[in-house]
Formats: sequence, C-alpha cells, structure tokens
Amino acid sequence: MNPVDMLQDARFTRRSFVAGSLGALAAALLAEELSPLTAFAEDSAPAGPMDPSRRDGVIDTICEMCVWRCGVRATVRDGRVVKLDGNPDHPHSLGKLCPRGQAGLLTAYDPDRLKYPLIRAGKRGSGLWRRATWDEAMDYVAEQMKRIAGDYGPQAMVFSSTHNPMQVQFENLLNAYGSPNYGTQRSLCFNAMITANQLTFGVDEPGRDYANARYIVYAGRNLAEAISNSETQELVDAIARGAKVVVLDPRFTKTAAKAHRWLPVRPGNDLAFFLALIHELLANGDYDRAFVARHTVGFEALKAEVEPYTVEWASAKTEIPAETIRAVAAELGAARPRAFVHPNWRTSNFINSFQTERAIAVLNALIGAWGAPGGVCEVSGESAVELGAPPQPPYPRVSALRLDGVPWKYPLVPLKLGIFQNIREAVITGQPYQAKGWFIYRQNPVLSLPDRGRTLEAFNKLELIVNVDISMNDTAWYSDVVLPEATYLERFDPLIVVGDRVFIRQPVIKPLFESRSGLMIFQDLGTRLGLKDFFQYKDELDYLGYQVKPLGVSVEELRQAGSVKVKLPPIDTYLFRTPSGKVELKSSLLAAANQDAVPTWQEPPRPTAVAFYLLTGKVAQHTQFATQNNRYLHELEPGNALWMNPGPAAARGLADGETVVVKSRSGEVRVPLRVTEAIRSDCVYLTPGFGHVSKALMTAFDSGVSDSDLHETFTDPVSGGQALSQTFVTVEKV
Ligand code: SF4
Repeated sequence: MNPVDMLQDARFTRRSFVAGSLGALAAALLAEELSPLTAFAEDSAPAGPMDPSRRDGVIDTICEMCVWRCGVRATVRDGRVVKLDGNPDHPHSLGKLCPRGQAGLLTAYDPDRLKYPLIRAGKRGSGLWRRATWDEAMDYVAEQMKRIAGDYGPQAMVFSSTHNPMQVQFENLLNAYGSPNYGTQRSLCFNAMITANQLTFGVDEPGRDYANARYIVYAGRNLAEAISNSETQELVDAIARGAKVVVLDPRFTKTAAKAHRWLPVRPGNDLAFFLALIHELLANGDYDRAFVARHTVGFEALKAEVEPYTVEWASAKTEIPAETIRAVAAELGAARPRAFVHPNWRTSNFINSFQTERAIAVLNALIGAWGAPGGVCEVSGESAVELGAPPQPPYPRVSALRLDGVPWKYPLVPLKLGIFQNIREAVITGQPYQAKGWFIYRQNPVLSLPDRGRTLEAFNKLELIVNVDISMNDTAWYSDVVLPEATYLERFDPLIVVGDRVFIRQPVIKPLFESRSGLMIFQDLGTRLGLKDFFQYKDELDYLGYQVKPLGVSVEELRQAGSVKVKLPPIDTYLFRTPSGKVELKSSLLAAANQDAVPTWQEPPRPTAVAFYLLTGKVAQHTQFATQNNRYLHELEPGNALWMNPGPAAARGLADGETVVVKSRSGEVRVPLRVTEAIRSDCVYLTPGFGHVSKALMTAFDSGVSDSDLHETFTDPVSGGQALSQTFVTVEKV
C-alpha cells in the first residue's frame, strides 16, 4: 500500500498563519482543526508510560525543534497538547520559544508523520511501501543486520544520526554490534571550530559572558536568524546595554542589521582579517602581556608568523578598508578583556576555516578574554555530571579501520566528530572496504550532505538501508525499512544536562498511532540481534531510574519538577587540557602532525569572473532540513529564492522574481531570483532545507530547491570539515 495515499486522508485544511502571533493563534487553530485526529489518536495510542491522571495540565519537557533544546511548558487539554510556552526556569529558553519552538506542536499532529513501520515494496525511491507490524519489521532488520555481520563483518554496517540525547543508546547499539562506523552531521557544521579550540585551549567550544561584554566580533554567526534562543536573547540584551557588535558576513543578515559595524568580507578571507588584527595588536603592544606570559606558549613563533599580515595586506584580501580593520583592532584592544571574538558555529566554510578558527582562539587569548568577565571561558556541565546506566558487559573489540579515515588518515580530527562526508565517499569507492548497510536515525543525509547525486549513488551500493524518524523525510524515502519514532512531545529520552541542572524530556501526550520511543526501538532491536545484555532495562522509566540513581531523586520527582540541580566539581579556569597545560598559540600537536602550528595564511580558491560564491545560511523559521513540512512554518517561509546583488543581475539582464538556472560542477537547479543590495556582488545565496524529494512530505515536497544539488564536496585535511562555501556557481536566464 502506498503510504502517501494513506496519509492523505488525515490531512488538515491549510490555514493562514500569521507571523508574530504564533502561540495564541496556534492554540485557537488547533482547538478547531485537530478534532478529526483526536479520535484516531485515542483509538490507536498504546497505553505507554504516561500516567492518565497527568494527561491534562501544564507539563515541563524539552523542545526538539533544533539542537538548542529549550525548556518547554506544554499545556495539555483533553489529552491533546494545545500550546507550548518557554519555560522561564530553563537556561536555554529563559521563558521564551522561537517560532520553530512554538510551531513544534504540529510535529505530533502532522498528518504526514510516520504512523507505523513500513517495508519497501517497490524500487528505492518509488514511494511504494507496505505496512508492517513492529515484529515483522524488527525481525527483518535484525535478520539483515545479522546476515551482513556474518557475511562481511559488523564493520560493513554504517550508523549515523544527528547529535542528540538518544545518541548514548544509539551508540550503545553500534558498539555492541561491533561497527566502528558512526557519523553525525558535525563535520558539515563545526569541525573546524571544535578542533581549533581543542588544540588551543583543550575545550570544545568556549562559553561567552554576554552580560559583561563590551565588544563582540562575529564572523558568519547569525544569531538573529540562526536562533540559539538564550544566546540570541543575550546578544539583544548586550546591545541594549551598550555592547558594540561587529559582524563579518558577505550578506546583510538580520544580525548585521543590529551590529555597529557590518563588514561584507570576501568569502574565505576572514582569516586575513583576524591575522591582521593579531598583527596590529602585537605591533601596538595592545595585548594582555600578563596573560600571555603566565598562560600561553608559542608567543614568539606567533609574532614572527604574523609579521607580514598588515592591515593593508588584509584589506586587499578581504576588501574591507584598511582604516576599518585598524579601527576594529583599536576598539577590541580598548575593550579588552571584556570582549571576545565569537567562535562561531557552522564554521567549515572553506578548507582554510580551521586556520580562521585558530586565529580567533589565539586572538581571544591575546586580549586576555579567557576567564575574564565579558570574555570567554570553559563551560562545565555535560561531561562533569555523572549519570547512572543499566549494567552491561564490555563491548566487543573492534579492529577494523573507520571508513571516515579518522584517525588513520586524519589524526587531528576528534574521534567523536568524525568526517561524515567521507563515509559516503567510502561507500561509493568501497575503500578501505565495502559497506553493505546503513542505519540512519533522526537524520536526513540526502538533503544535508553536499552533492545529492553522490549520496544516492552511495545508497545504490547498499543492501540494507534502515531509517528511524518521525516523518518520511527524503532519506527515509530511499530506505528499505522505515520505523516510526514517537515525537518529542510523546516520548522519554535519556536525561539532558545543561550546566549544573539535569532536565527530563517526557511525554506530554501518549504516543500517537504505532510510534515508539528510540529507547524502546533500540532495546527491541538489540534483543533481536542477540545483544540483550547491552539493553538491560524494562522500559523507559526503568532506564531513567538507572540514570537518576546518582542524583538523589526519583524519576517521579524529576518528572514533577522538570529538572534537578547537581553539584559540579569546581573548574580550574587556567588548567588547560593541552599537551603543555597552557594555551597553545603554537600547537605542539599540529607541529607533530607537520601542519602549520601557528595561525597562518592559506589562500582560498576564488570563482572566475563569470561565477559566484554560493553562500548558504539560515532563516529564523526553519531548522536545517527538518521543519519545512510543518504547516505553520511553511506558511511563514514556504520556499527559497536565489539572492543576487543588483549589479550582476543587471549585467546579466536578470529581473527580480524571474526563474534562473544555477549551475555548479555537481548539478543545477532552477529557482526564482531575489535581487537585493543585501549581498556582495560576487556572491549568491540560497537558504538550505528546501527541495525535498519525498512525496510523503506533502507540504514541503516540491517547495524550493536544495543546495545539496549544487554543493561540491571539499574536506579540510586538518579538521575534516566540509567546506560548504567553496562551491562556485554560474547563474543564467532559463
Ligand atoms: Fe526550540 Fe527554538 Fe529553543 Fe531551538 S531555539 S530548542 S527551536 S525554542
């Protein structure tokens, strides 16, 4: 049976949804429109772990509309969630939700959501499926995974997921199964930033003290649109208090609109800007000599390296006036140490981005921002809190090489980050061995990886593709078995640590249809694979019971309170987990690996005169590739258009609104043009996340185009980051 047809019956009537009043309007619309689903939900929902007496009222849980994981207060009436609000007691929401968070209630009531297990009944991507029972689907998956392990070894199964709280049990499954091959989306995002900060300070990502900051520099981070709720609020408050903000971005983003200086830097050349700032501060003696003397190594090597990187040199590279670079250096020096250069997020834009992130980390050290009020610091939390776990035996020893080349080809890439795009390439080439199966959880590589054609080529090499998700996303569409997970409003996940608090994500309504929590899906599969000893819990509450044991509370107490405070060991701010125990301006690990050990210039490629840099970014209404099928968010931002500056548009005879052909070496798309002054004339911009190919996403299907049809694959040899802005395109009339 074709699920598209089955799903069509339960569709809502589309209603207009007005920006800016999401919450109240959502409640009003839902009261009216969800009634047809209610009966279905009541009939089909299994008993689950929800206590019926708690079904109405306000229940605290955690948002999953993006990775920021804000605290949510869910209002439930007659067993239906009717309103989501920000939890004022959660440090990530501070009482507010962004548009995606408020629209999150449609994840549970999306008529297109997966309702029961499906097994492919036609060619991959044909959309032909048959409904299966959980027993049948799980037996099939377990049987195929056992066959692959028996015929080719467990390393022939690849596992991948987003970085999420359930990762602990997903990784438990792959470790127990015995595969070394695990990928997350991190190499498409912040490998450069984390690798650079690890090598400099020994931390993944320094925290920022906005409350006391007087001067903040961003390079591409767009907090007003790529919303990280609490940090976005902190930025707004800092500006209101008088902090000065500098934004380097080839686009005039909404964050740039709030900045004191918008510097439309030439893409890939922000490294030159930061090297010149270092040069200028050192040349003027405008740095924190005491901090450098006490806490750093490699100062002389740094000073020698940056000698040629003058502001005039950087101006020619960046196309930012020399006097502006000089002024920023002076302002940064005057504000220090109550200042920071933000480490940014999706930083792997060019293969020199690792050097850019190193230069940023080194700058923060030079201005004495580390550990200072208004500067950057180590963040305690997740790793410092000990949670309990069910008993289990040791994992089997794995000797197979990782398909992503870490660490045997990429010794400096942190093991936990990996290089996701390399896994796909290894599946295509069969080197160093041929993968045969791919188990994908809460992830959509068909849209997220560059060069969609190559991702589908990799899928063609596989004998088994399994997908666990809440919707028939584009990757599920090309899978063999699709298993429906309960949405975040219907399930427990493993506990979530934020700072010195432990939070619980808990169901606020019963799981609809036949969806199940990841905790139970992986336990069931593990049992069928003969790995039951690795999943020794009866149900979700039993699993959480093990987790809360060291915290001194019961699961029920935690459910009522929403969170519990824990005592963290004190942090020694100046004990750096680097080989020298100091801030490494010159990195000993980079030197040992024959890489540039102090920040240095690496010339990025540039497009020819007839081509453009292809930029991608974010809008406030969507999260990556996951929210375009949400009706409310779709109506706020239904598709994408190609941004182009009026100069090149006029030179090509292109008019605002007309459809153009955009071509790269990977592929081409046809998309409407948006002519705007808000972008450099050598760049074009496309919002990612559109161009879904799954016909089961009946709202998002065929809306907009996907940048994954254009992006080429370039991997930074040091951090493994995918250089997303290094793709150049031409734009022509249709
Ligand atoms: Fe949800 Fe928005 Fe918070 Fe992300 S930032 S967790 S989408 S409310």
